[in-house]
Amino acid sequence: MKITAIRTHILQAGLSQPFAYSRAWYDTRTAMLVEIETDDGLTGWGECYGPARMTAAVVDSVAPWLIGEDALRTDVLWQTVYARLRDHGQKGVVIQGLSGIDIALWDIKGKRFGVPVHQLLGGAARKTVQAYATGLYRRRSADPLKYLPEEAAGYATEGFRAVKLKVGFGIEQDAAATRAVREAIGPEIALMVDANHAYDQVAAIRLGRLIERYDIGWFEEPVPPEDIAGYRAVKAALSIPIAGGECEFTRFGFRDLFVSHALDIAQPDTCAAGGLSECKKIADMSGAFGIRYNPHVWGTGIAIAASLQLLAVLPSHTPTSLAPLEPMLEFDRTEHPIRQAILTRPIEHNAGIVGIPDGPGLGIDIDRDALARFEVK
Ligand code: CA
Repeated sequence: MKITAIRTHILQAGLSQPFAYSRAWYDTRTAMLVEIETDDGLTGWGECYGPARMTAAVVDSVAPWLIGEDALRTDVLWQTVYARLRDHGQKGVVIQGLSGIDIALWDIKGKRFGVPVHQLLGGAARKTVQAYATGLYRRRSADPLKYLPEEAAGYATEGFRAVKLKVGFGIEQDAAATRAVREAIGPEIALMVDANHAYDQVAAIRLGRLIERYDIGWFEEPVPPEDIAGYRAVKAALSIPIAGGECEFTRFGFRDLFVSHALDIAQPDTCAAGGLSECKKIADMSGAFGIRYNPHVWGTGIAIAASLQLLAVLPSHTPTSLAPLEPMLEFDRTEHPIRQAILTRPIEHNAGIVGIPDGPGLGIDIDRDALARFEVK
């Protein structure tokens, strides 16, 4: 089955109100989708995390190397692209571009054999996954100590058993926000915090010590991704589990991170770290190191579906327990007009639980009219 076309789709949508994490404001959402066609009429879809125009340029540049190749040889094609760009793109947008291609090829492979991707990746360990609500961003106006606990309580009412708060806005303010959210959701709901590497190790340890008392599920990206020694220092100083990895790439990058024992929880993004082929390898390696794997997810329904296919096959974090602790889906609850609109059947949660799509490939179908509506010409 030969690849006949590889197309990129840059989508964009404005937001009704801007929101911020520790380093930037958003007033639009963008997405970069990869569509691959084959000579027997099957089409596969993938998505790239990262700057859309840059990842589109990568995919468009790589496409001629893949036309005419057998779409089912996913590992070989991955290695071919990686090897040709090794001198220039071991991390970053090259791997993000490759990720979208790889996911689209897995979608094709599943459709070719009439089974969901998770069946080809080793078989489902679970049919549903617990989602945690990613939200609790900052807004332009009003008091965060009022709107953050209100928003968090809303997630609890919807049935989410875990929520993640953005921090990195100043240590005292972060500690106050963490306390307010914990008080709003009560002791039973898991609360994680994410600094998006806003701090250095001194600031991260100080914040960590102030919020340890609020039973924090994990402290995500406390320091910049290059600062492995900083990660280790934060991890050694705090009782809170340390998470990170959305800025790391491929088995080679995660090998070094795992060997350094900088993390308790690895968060590769399936649409950035190398696609399904590579993230399965990273997940197997994380198991060997005793490091938990909870994928970073930030994108449209294609990214969510690809992440769910991988989540289906991950082992539980406590593999020998009768009450195993399972990996969770990161479920972005911020405004994203494109996220579900491009799917013919939205991927929704039911009381914080998301079903893993069990149709062929990624288990989703794309609404072409919605795609056209958001496409940047
Ligand atoms: Ca994050």
